Amino acid sequence: MTVKSFQPPKRTLMGPGPSDVSQRVLGALARPTIGHLDPAFVGMMEEMKGLLQYAFQTKNDLTFPVSAPGSAGMETCFVNLVEPGDKVIVCQNGVFGGRMKENVERCGGVPIMVEDAWGTVVDPQKLEDALRANPDAKLVAFVHAETSTGAQSDAKTLVALAHKYDCLTIVDAVTSLGGTPIKVDEWGIDAIYSGTQKCLSAPPGLSPVSFNERALERIRARKRKVQSWFLDLTLVMGYWSGGSKRAYHHTAPINNLYGLHEALVILQDEGLENAWARHAFNHEALKAGIEAMGLKFIVKAGDRLPQLNAVTIPEGVNDAEVRTTLLNDYNLEIGAGLGSMAGKIWRIGLMGYASNAHNVEYCLKALDEVLSKAKAPISKGVAVNAAKAILGKTAKAS
Ligand SMILES: *Cc1c(COP(=O)(O)O)cnc(C)c1O
Repeated sequence: MTVKSFQPPKRTLMGPGPSDVSQRVLGALARPTIGHLDPAFVGMMEEMKGLLQYAFQTKNDLTFPVSAPGSAGMETCFVNLVEPGDKVIVCQNGVFGGRMKENVERCGGVPIMVEDAWGTVVDPQKLEDALRANPDAKLVAFVHAETSTGAQSDAKTLVALAHKYDCLTIVDAVTSLGGTPIKVDEWGIDAIYSGTQKCLSAPPGLSPVSFNERALERIRARKRKVQSWFLDLTLVMGYWSGGSKRAYHHTAPINNLYGLHEALVILQDEGLENAWARHAFNHEALKAGIEAMGLKFIVKAGDRLPQLNAVTIPEGVNDAEVRTTLLNDYNLEIGAGLGSMAGKIWRIGLMGYASNAHNVEYCLKALDEVLSKAKAPISKGVAVNAAKAILGKTAKAS
């Protein structure tokens, strides 16, 4: 048997990521591969730094994409900033906070957990209690946008609290970057990481990170080498910050970087504020449809992520069957619940390029039809019109 070229089906990606990648970004990925030390490539990477600084709202010199997915950006922050014996306060309100704890432990650090119920935000009072009880803590880590539940914590307040008690901060902005406001310099975030496949709508495989001067001082003062060779920032810096004197560290994923560059140019052209407003607007439309149908959000209003809508699965409905039908009959992907939320919620993403009026209507129409057929206890045939009332004239027929 001869294997033929792979032709992926055309899907609409409305899960927790990856999100739909535009033809413009796909086109950029297909441009000719050049050497990673080619002056033309180095020039592109210099632009990339400026574009990422804009997306993060920072002047941090050490702002670059780690050559691996969001999880590697997470690991880059922890392995560089945590030394054996360091106490790290980790706020957990979903799946990704749990991974932060794993990272601290694997660095030989001591995690102090501040736990909040899944679907709620990180409670600043609990963080302050933990900071008071642990005056020797060195770091505070939390997830800004918890993709497993759709809750958005108040990053500005949490960072200010950490600084009040002389702790540096590590912030997970994988799902928030490009979707909801992140202001690295204004909020004083010390180390931050994100991903490309959520609200930036580039393919997965890169993790934009940014470190401020305080974080770099901490890294320079380390007593021992970072245990990861690949993620050791003191080595990576020679490559990303070397200007024309860039030294070989690893071969950058060249074409994937073209894709991220294009996605960031698109973000720059739209404008960050406009991108945030678009995500908020399309969320309002989806919410109107979801609630008209009778489904409920698990996160309380005001704490919800517009780009990740976690809704309850109606009584008696088979989670997997519905998602399979959506995929097979509508080419539509939505997300399942993670961990303790499995089988209880769906996660509907409206991220980046996928956050548009057409997708809102298409998803509501598909859910309405599939749930009606499954005899689910919902209000039938009303969701799309409820969304249209919000979308108004900007709505396109689905
Ligand atoms: C997706 C995600 C990650 C992990 O990113 P990968 O690119 O899958 O490694 C980390 N944190 C949050 C909040 C995420 O949503």
